[in-house]
Amino acid sequence: MERSLKPAGSVCHGFLAAGLGLVLLAGCQTVQTTGAGVVGVERKQTMSSLISSSQIDRSAGQAYRQVLAESGKKDRLNRDAVQVERVRRIAERLIPATKVFRGDATSWAWEVNVITSDDVNAWCMPGGKIAVYTGLIAKVEPTDDELAAVMGHEIAHALREHGRERASEQMAKQLGISVLSVALGLGELGTQLTQTILDVTLSLPHSRTHETEADRIGVELAARAGYDPRAAVSLWRKMGKLGGDKPPEILSTHPSDQSRIRDLQLYTEKVLPLYDAGRKR
Ligand SMILES: [Zn+2]
Repeated sequence: MERSLKPAGSVCHGFLAAGLGLVLLAGCQTVQTTGAGVVGVERKQTMSSLISSSQIDRSAGQAYRQVLAESGKKDRLNRDAVQVERVRRIAERLIPATKVFRGDATSWAWEVNVITSDDVNAWCMPGGKIAVYTGLIAKVEPTDDELAAVMGHEIAHALREHGRERASEQMAKQLGISVLSVALGLGELGTQLTQTILDVTLSLPHSRTHETEADRIGVELAARAGYDPRAAVSLWRKMGKLGGDKPPEILSTHPSDQSRIRDLQLYTEKVLPLYDAGRKR
């Protein structure tokens, strides 16, 4: 499994290599998905124009419905009303804070659900489809500030459209299938994208670049929502101590390294005034 994100240029190169017919369909565009915020995340992203934001959001909506339907069938969806209320209340404070990074996000069709599972996991699919697993709540025993830290981190991945970036990368890797999908039409492409969204959400690791961006934007979201941003440091330390033989699910999709805590501490300091200002109001 490849852990580093390929430079965006190589994604486009892969598409271009497929032949002239595809070149017309598969141009690349450089986009700025978010404003920089106080944390200053400014990396320009290159996306395949084969995959639009709205198409990704549609496929993510379908992927989310699949996950919820499977959980529901096993009676593993929103079983504990107190937990569901807690997680949704935190989301309701974080979501308004997203407007600093992008103006459209507050009007996304956000959904927040709790899945009963031993896995220590949480994620946010493109377009604001959030899940928190009961394993995370039971094993990490997060405070509200810590739960806001992990949810802010996941929301940041969606704001930055990392799912769309990764789908571009995945489709370049599976170029043969992509060409076939294009030949078959957009319906097939949508089906393939739904599977890709499931893969990148549930099993494939984010790159370190994406992790750093989500960490930095995540602490700013938490601070602006009135949650102590320093909880990100204690949260990820707790995560790191879990597991024994098997590290928590969330660390396999959100790879960490030793410099991560240092970076989090640095950026927590940058956003602490936002948190303090909110408390004085
Ligand atoms: Zn992450």
